[in-house]
This record gives sequence, structure tokens and C-alpha cells, in this order.
Amino acid sequence: MATTLSVLQEELASVDSELQAVELQVQELLERQQELLKKKTVLAKKIKQFSDTESGSSKNTESAAESWNKEDFPWSTKVRDMLQSNFKLPRFRPLQLETINVTMAGKDVFLVMPTGGGKSLCYQLPAVCSGGFTLVICPLISLMEDQLMMLEQLEVSATLLNASSSKEHVKWVHAEMLSHSSQLKLIYVTPEKIAKSKMFMSKLEKAYQAGRLSRIAVDEVHCCSQWGHDFRPDYKLLGILKRQFPNASLIGLTATATSHVLCDAQKILCVQKCITFTASFNRPNLYYEVREKPSTAQDFIEDIVKLINRRYKGLSGIIYCFSQKDAEQVTMSLQKLGIKAGTYHANMEPKDKSKVHKHWSANEIQVVVATVAFGMGIDKPDVRFVIHHSMSKSMENYYQESGRAGRDDQKADCILYYGFGDIFRISTMVVMENVGQQKLYDMVSYCHSMSRICVCRCRRVLIAHHFDEAWDSANCNKMCDNCCREESFENMNVTGHCQDLIKILKQVDHMKEKFTPLKLTDAWLGKGLSKLGVRDVVAPKLPREVLERIIAHLILQQYLKEDFSFTAFATISYVKIGPRADLLKNKGHVINMQVITRKNSIAKVRSPQLSSPESLIRKKMEVTCKKQQNERKRTHSKNPTQAKKSKTAINEEESELMIIED
Ligand code: ADP
Ligand code: MG
Ligand code: ZN
Repeated sequence: MATTLSVLQEELASVDSELQAVELQVQELLERQQELLKKKTVLAKKIKQFSDTESGSSKNTESAAESWNKEDFPWSTKVRDMLQSNFKLPRFRPLQLETINVTMAGKDVFLVMPTGGGKSLCYQLPAVCSGGFTLVICPLISLMEDQLMMLEQLEVSATLLNASSSKEHVKWVHAEMLSHSSQLKLIYVTPEKIAKSKMFMSKLEKAYQAGRLSRIAVDEVHCCSQWGHDFRPDYKLLGILKRQFPNASLIGLTATATSHVLCDAQKILCVQKCITFTASFNRPNLYYEVREKPSTAQDFIEDIVKLINRRYKGLSGIIYCFSQKDAEQVTMSLQKLGIKAGTYHANMEPKDKSKVHKHWSANEIQVVVATVAFGMGIDKPDVRFVIHHSMSKSMENYYQESGRAGRDDQKADCILYYGFGDIFRISTMVVMENVGQQKLYDMVSYCHSMSRICVCRCRRVLIAHHFDEAWDSANCNKMCDNCCREESFENMNVTGHCQDLIKILKQVDHMKEKFTPLKLTDAWLGKGLSKLGVRDVVAPKLPREVLERIIAHLILQQYLKEDFSFTAFATISYVKIGPRADLLKNKGHVINMQVITRKNSIAKVRSPQLSSPESLIRKKMEVTCKKQQNERKRTHSKNPTQAKKSKTAINEEESELMIIED
């Protein structure tokens, strides 16, 4: 009896373990299915675009755009006249006419257009050409003030209502909303006004009934969706507008919206049927580059100064920093080295902020060193470079910030310095945000030349994929670092490294300790391995940067994960074993990481527009590279275990090359 029981138990255990293995495989296959489905969508889009251009036939959105790109509507003459006489603009930019026609026809429309593309005109001009007034919802007072200033110059009657409006002003606006003889064309309000002021809603209702509310414009419409990069809770309540005022046409505008965000926003705004126009996100004149952040602050500043003094001599630019403190320190360092730099961040006095902005606009300051606070409303056309001292917290942010370069359509550079430590500085900052971490990881993936659906060379393709736009790297015209490289990408098998890290983390956990990414890297490098007692982990003979990149890669791939701990003063990110680590129980499971391999010499990575002042740096790297190679040869001959693992040796060779990519 007892033996039968134990046999059964054994059998059960074996079935259990097989089940576990099957479950892992299922999970893996499901993930693969997701990847393939995404890939399929993009490919289908590409094919459609391709066949549309080939056959010359244009369907759906394109045909929609085509049928609205006309000037024989009843309002067309007036619109054209007002564009030139009132707005003093000679012609429309792409998709402006189409959007204006749809909203003039009383239909709902969404316009996705990169920052600086000219979205405001698409509701300002119709407002002037229509009876009644247009209600504009805008997330920031400063944005409204910018627009009001411009409208005042153009002698268009517009105003804003916010919490600090005086009683008299509010009274005047309320009266104008109802008066049939009013000249007031645009009323700007924050979403809070709609959400919180019953008084204002009741006036709107009266105005609507009197046929005076002709149009509703929701600017920065991505704020509705928590998938957008700056979700505003009050935007969620704006659905009331379309429900209460179904006959007022709605126009939603945004610079950055994936199709996901857009659908979400339409749902939240209760828009039943609408036409969506999407301008391309491609900025052909921008050169994109990602650099490894130098390890010391001193080297880093020298790198930046070299750029500013040579490549960008006398040219205007912005340096985006992670924190106010960073911005202040970088400004000081630059000033010490003779560069005309000014700081800009949210914690400065308004007058100091506008002083910096003014001096920079007048080219009296060459570089603004800023936090993300330096953003909306910045419209300097000849910004020749935007340097990211740290990566942005999301691709949307990066696109907007880097997009401030080259508004004049002349060539400009967007250089991002990628630092391992920045990942965790930012992740602890966004930990409270709903999808903050996923967005950050998308940003890190971009730095690693990966996107959700592919590993890829061209930065433009990565950006396009992020915004769900189908794009071909051939259209990059060598305007990104990866397209300029002569090396190729190859797979490096990091499975063994992952297993080692898991061993270390298991031991750490066993000892009831926690490791920050820094400590984990140190331990892996051999500092404290013996103390930990993980004897069979040998410190890899790889440069620190490569180890860091492997750890980051494994976090992105969820073999490792971040684990946050809150103290009264700070949030700390620790590294733990991630959900996919279980997959390694599967013998055949392999984790690959893309690395750049060198062909013959260090490739010339440079912006095509500019001569190459980097040759010196390259020389220096060549020397470092040789030194490292020699050192490696020595360690290899000294270390028989390394020599035996020929596969590892090749990988090491590859990854060594990776860090000299700059
Ligand atoms: P967005 O809201 O898309 O970021 P804005 O509406 O603020 O962009 O416009 C950016 C700049 O482009 C403004 O200075 C505006 O005057 C200018 N602009 C808009 N439309 C045109 C046009 N058709 N021709 C020339 N300039 C334009
Ligand atoms: Mg705008
Ligand atoms: Zn490219």
C-alpha cells in the first residue's frame, strides 16, 4: 500500500514538473504570438501604404484627406481671405486645410501633428470664419497666454477664464457668450473649469441653446488618456461636452498620440464618428544619435564642450537635464569653460525664466540648460542641437524635446547620452505613474536600438514604430547614427550571464539583503562575490559598461526586475529576479542581446552635415580599444578556463566592440 502511494506521489510530482515546463512554454509562445501580431499589423500597414502609392489609388484616410483638400466649399473664399489678411500667412501647411474644412463642415475631427506643425491655426481660423464662439480647452495657462498674445497682435478677439480671473472679467465673458452682437471668437479655459464650475457649464448650455457655441477645441487631447504622456484627470471628464452639446463640432489636437491613445481619447470625449488626420512624425532634417554617457562628470562635460565649441560653434541649442540640480551644475561647468549658457527650470522666478528665454531667443545666450519645464511655447526656429544629458522619461517626451531642434527645416542634431544609472534615477521618479515604468523601458529600448516589435538599426524606424507609423529605414538618408555605421549588429548569447546574475540574486535574497543595480554590478564584477559565497560565478572579463548593458537588457526582457523601496526621503530601486527567469528552467532557452560588431576599423559615426571634429576622440578610442584587446589577449592566455570557453570569448570580443561604438 505504502509503495503504491509513494509511486503515485512520484508520478504526480513528475506530472507537476512537466506541467510547469509546458506552462512556461505556453507563456513563451503567447509572448511570441503577441510580438508576431504586432509585427503583422505594422507590415500590413506598410504593404497598404506601398500598394496605395504604387497603384496611385488612395483609400480611407488618404482619400479622406484628398476629398477635404479642396477650396470649393461655401466657406473656402472666406477661409483663404482670413488666412492671408487676418493671420498674415501666405499658405497652409500640410493637413491644415483638410482639418479646417472638416470642422467648418460641422464634423468632428482629430488632428495628430508634430509640435510646431501649426495645429492652433486649425481652430483659430475656423473660429474667426464662423458665427458664435469657439471654446478651447487647454491644459496650461502659459499655453493659453502665448496664444492670446499672438491673437491680440492679429486683432482677433479672444480671452481666457481661469481660477484667478476677476469677478468683473468673468461677468463680462458670461455676457459675451450670450450676446449676438459679441465679437469674442475664442474662449480658452482649463479642463478644471468644465469639471468644477457649475456656473460656467450653465452659461455654456445657454450659449449652446442660443446657437452661439459653434465649436469645441480640445488641445493636447492626449491628456485624456492615461496612456498619454501627461494624463490630466480633469480631461477625463470632458466627455460631458459632446454629450451636452452634440451639435457643436469637436476638434481634438495633439502632437503625440499612438493609435491606442487616440482611440482612448475619442472614447473619453464621447465622440461617435470622426475623421482623423495624422501628419507624419518623421522630421527629415533631424539627425538622431545615442552616445554612451562618459563615466565621470568631468569627461562628460568635456565631451559636451567639445561639441559646442566645434560642431556647434556659434549655433543655438538646448541641453535637457534630469533634475534642476543637474541643470544648474551643467550650466556652471559650461560657463566656467567660457560657454554662454543659462539655466531654465520650474523652480526659478518667472522673471528669471523669461530673461533666459529672451536672451536665448536673441542669441545672447548660446545654450539653455534646462529641465522639461523648458518646453511648451518654445518656438525658436534655428535651434541647431538638442542634447539630452539624460534620457527622457518616455519616447513621447523625447520626441517633443528633441523636436525643438530644426524648426526652420534646416539640419539639426539630436544627441542623447545614455547612462545606466539614469534608468533607475528616472524609474524611482515615475514609480507612482501608472504606466511610467513601461514608458521608461520603451525609452531605454530605443537607446539599445530595440523597439516593441523589432531590433533595428535605424532610429527613425524605432521612433516611427513607437508612434505606430510604418516606416522604411531607406528613407532615413543616413540621418541617424545607426544608419551611418559601417558595422553590423550581431547576437550575443547572454543566457549564461543571466544565470550567473540569478545565482547572485538568489544568494542575496537568501542572506535577506537587497542589491541596487550598482551593487549588483559591483558584485558581478567580483567585488564581494566570495563574501556572498557564490563560488561558481566567475566575474566576466568584460568592461563595466557591457555588464551594465546586459543587466539593463535583462530588466527590459523581464528576466530581472526592479523592486522599489520607499524611505521617508527617497525611493530606492533594487534588482530582483524577474518573472521570465523561470523560462531558464527550459534547457533550450536562449537569451540574446544585440551588439554592434566592428568590421575593419572603427566606423565613422558622424553627422553628415558637419565636418568631423571627433577624429581626435576616435583616435583616443582606437588607442583604448587596442589597449583593451592586448589586455584581453593577456588574460585569455593566462586564464585557461576562459580559453576553453571559446564561445564566450567570441561574445566578449563582440561586446567589447559594442562599447566603442561612439
Ligand atoms: P503646434 O500647436 O502644432 O505645436 P502652433 O499652432 O503653436 O503649433 O504653431 C507653430 C508655429 O507655426 C507658430 O509660430 C505658427 O504661427 C506657425 N504656423 C502655423 N501655421 C502656419 C502656416 N500655414 N504657415 C507658416 N507658419 C505657420
Ligand atoms: Mg499647440
Ligand atoms: Zn536611420
